[in-house]
Amino acid sequence: MQSSPPLRVYKFGGASVKDAAAIKNLQQILGQNPDGQPLLVVVSAMGKTTNALEHIFHLAHSGQDYAAPLAELRRFHLEVARGLLPAAPLDADGVPACGEGSGALPHLLQELGDRLATLAKGEYDRQYDQVVSFGELLATCIVAAAVGARWLDVRPLIRTDHSWREGRVDWATTERNLREQVPPLLAQGVVLTQGFLGGTASGQTTTLGREGSDYTAAILAYCLGAESVTIWKDVAGLLNADPKIFPDTVRYPEISYQETIEMAYYGASVIHPKTIKPLAVRRIPLLVKSFVDPAAEGTRIHDCKHGLLAPAFIRKTEQCLVSFESKDLTFISEENLEVIFGTLAQVRLKINLMQNSAISFSVCTDWHEYRLRKLLEQLREQFTIYYNTGLELYTIKNYTAEAISQLTEGRELLLEQRTRQTFQFVARALGDK
Ligand code: ASP
Ligand code: MG
Repeated sequence: MQSSPPLRVYKFGGASVKDAAAIKNLQQILGQNPDGQPLLVVVSAMGKTTNALEHIFHLAHSGQDYAAPLAELRRFHLEVARGLLPAAPLDADGVPACGEGSGALPHLLQELGDRLATLAKGEYDRQYDQVVSFGELLATCIVAAAVGARWLDVRPLIRTDHSWREGRVDWATTERNLREQVPPLLAQGVVLTQGFLGGTASGQTTTLGREGSDYTAAILAYCLGAESVTIWKDVAGLLNADPKIFPDTVRYPEISYQETIEMAYYGASVIHPKTIKPLAVRRIPLLVKSFVDPAAEGTRIHDCKHGLLAPAFIRKTEQCLVSFESKDLTFISEENLEVIFGTLAQVRLKINLMQNSAISFSVCTDWHEYRLRKLLEQLREQFTIYYNTGLELYTIKNYTAEAISQLTEGRELLLEQRTRQTFQFVARALGDK
């Protein structure tokens, strides 16, 4: 349907807009986009701003003093804005003129302050979204002005339901909104908008889940029929392990959607897990590139078949292993499992790994003390229950014998499991061996 050149979507996360120098680097990357190729840029909150806003919100909601962290957040944004826009006139409060109307910097700062000052009791999650969303609003206001892009408020376009903090997208409405409103703007130059945010039919702000800006880029690309999405990161592409945890990582030059989804499922913190599906459905390639070295190849996630992939190493920390034994030494039956699964779902403990034997059944879950206590209360009569905490769950995808011995050496494995492609084990965290 598009007669103009195909659209590219770029996504920049917190690290790529963490200060004025990072934003200048972003501007250079945008400058390398060929003339006349439409470009839609998604930006998330600067640096650790979302964490700071969560903290401020929590203080405000619980009636505590939040003045100092709010002042710091304001100071930080103003410093970056002044650094990037030295010629912008300052208002009486020292805020540079930046952005327009409801998206102008002075207006956003004022609105954030007002919202915090008037929080109601209760409705924690709904009010969280109204406040924490300011990270993206402030960042995009400053970055758009600095790079000369058009600022777009994404909230009236990405329609979600009222699932606060994890808005579920109404795809039909979102697609209609985006197709109507975005192409005319793209025809005039680079458009820059917020990741992580959406809005309800009644105009309230929602968020899409922490680290959700990748997902935003995928939503926009899907609805607008983009040619590709590029996620700019501080690493060289999609790696087989987190370099902060594992030495000697390798980069995958290309990898399939399926493999990437599985890695995200096992806990690799590479890309927000919801990102891949919309792209896979419309076969839009996802490029992961380094903003430090934009000319380097990076990783192409697309519809591809590959031979043997380098093993991927994934670690989930703060795990808990719970084992159930039937009290009367009967076998673990379907009836027993039904009760266990039902209770796990009810207390919202997600199973990361499970295994059963004749009289016992074990699950590895994320450690949530309160949820576990509820589980114990409900099942203690029927089962003898043991649990260990302070554990780690390791997954090696596309394992080799060498990869297994490298990772398991010197460890006591509490549980292990292997399928044709995947080897997983639960072990005590090193350090408290
Ligand atoms: N700023 C949000 C967060 O830190 C969304 C994102 O970064 O993708 O969770
Ligand atoms: Mg972030």
